[in-house]
Amino acid sequence: MTRKNQSQLDHTLRERALKLFPWVCAHCGREFDGKTLHQLTVHHKDHHHDNNPPDGSNWELLCLYCHDNEHQRYHVADSSAAAPTIHEPDRPSTFTPLARLGDLLKRKP
Ligand SMILES: [Zn+2]
Ligand SMILES: [Zn+2]
Repeated sequence: MTRKNQSQLDHTLRERALKLFPWVCAHCGREFDGKTLHQLTVHHKDHHHDNNPPDGSNWELLCLYCHDNEHQRYHVADSSAAAPTIHEPDRPSTFTPLARLGDLLKRKP
């Protein structure tokens, strides 16, 4: 039931956005008409779908491809900020330079 309400909401939201803005992708500038209009989607600039100001200032019309890219960029930036030490973990507590030095000395003739 909530799912249906959500899709109905999206539908009217999109129609409102299509009345407000020219049918052009805001990123690649591709133009749309009645035949291709289904490829034009409403993107929320702040990624909050509940933020729908009546003047459409949080909306952007994007084609399917640019919309995908936009969300991928967002997710990549999000995950790298959340886990900055995913490559090369720094663990000074298990790093034992003296033990390695000992190994090096033993190998010397
Ligand atoms: Zn586009
Ligand atoms: Zn979006």
